[in-house]
Amino acid sequence: MNMNKKLLKETQPVVYKTLSNALTKDHLAHAYLFEGDKSAPKKETALLFAQSLVCQHKDEDGFACQECDACKRIEHGEAIDYKWIDGTKNRIKKNDVLKIQELFETTSAEIEDRRIYVLEGFDDATVDASNSLLKFLEEPAPGIFGILIADEKSNILPTIQSRCQWIHFRPASRMNVVNKLIEKCDQDTAQMLANSGYTYNKACELLEYEEFSIIRQAAKDYVKNMGSMNEIFSLQSEVFIAKGSLMKKEWIRLWIQWVLYELKKDGNNLSLAKRVKIQTILVEAMDILRRPVDLALFLDKIYFDIKKVVKSLN
Ligand SMILES: [Zn+2]
Repeated sequence: MNMNKKLLKETQPVVYKTLSNALTKDHLAHAYLFEGDKSAPKKETALLFAQSLVCQHKDEDGFACQECDACKRIEHGEAIDYKWIDGTKNRIKKNDVLKIQELFETTSAEIEDRRIYVLEGFDDATVDASNSLLKFLEEPAPGIFGILIADEKSNILPTIQSRCQWIHFRPASRMNVVNKLIEKCDQDTAQMLANSGYTYNKACELLEYEEFSIIRQAAKDYVKNMGSMNEIFSLQSEVFIAKGSLMKKEWIRLWIQWVLYELKKDGNNLSLAKRVKIQTILVEAMDILRRPVDLALFLDKIYFDIKKVVKSLN
C-alpha cells in the first residue's frame, strides 16, 4: 500500500509541506494528530511518515523511499520498535496503550534510535486509553514518536490535542481520484470507484484482484436484465457462490455500488419510479451490510426484492 508521494503533494499540499519541513529540518514533534475527513489518505500518509522517520534513502523532501528494507519492515509491521494499532474495528483500550509503553521500555530501538507507534481511529478510543496516553505524552521520552489518526478531532480530549502537532487533511476530491485512476483503468471504472467514495489507494488495491473484473461484469450484466430469473441464477451459481472467494462483504459492497452506478446511467428500460425504488433497496442493503449478516440470505433478499419491483405494474 505505497503512498503515491506525487499525489500527496498535489492533493494535500499543506500536509505535504508541513511534514516535509519537519523531516528535512529534523524539527519533529513527539506526537502528531492526523485528522480530517474519512476520505482523506490519513492512513497511507501515516505509514509514509513512519517510514520517513527511519528510512536511510529519503528523497529531497525528506520522505521515505518506500522500497528499502527498513521501509518494507514498517509496511509489513515487522519492525520491533514500531507498533500500529487499528482502532477502527475494536476501540483502542487502556491495555493497548500500556502494551506500547511496555514494548518501548523493554526493547532497544533497532533503527536510528527511533520508536514509532500509530493509533488509528483514536477518536473512538476509551476514556481510560486516553488517560493512559496522556501520561505517556506528558513525559515524552526521546526518540519515541506517536501518530494518532482520527476522522473527528473533537472526539479527542483537548489535553491530548494540545500535546500533539495537528496535521489537518482536507477531504479527497473526486475529480482528483478520477484523474489519477484513469492511468490504471478505463474512465468508466475510475468514475464508478471515485463516485462510490473509494480513495485512490483503496481503488488501486481493488483493481489488482481478478475478482474485481468479475464483479464489474456481473453488475453490468445484472443491470441489463434486472429481475430476470436467469440473471439471478447466474449470480447464485457463478458469482456469489457459497464459500466462494467473492462471497465476502467487500466484494458484495462493490457489486452493489456498481449496480447503483449502472442504474444511474441511461440505457436500461426501467421507469424512473422503478429505478428510484431499486436504488432505495440497494442503499438500505449497504447499511445492513455493516452489521453481521448471513451473506447468502442477504443477497437472495436483494435479488427478489428487486425482481418484485421490476415485475410490478408501475
Ligand atoms: Zn526506505
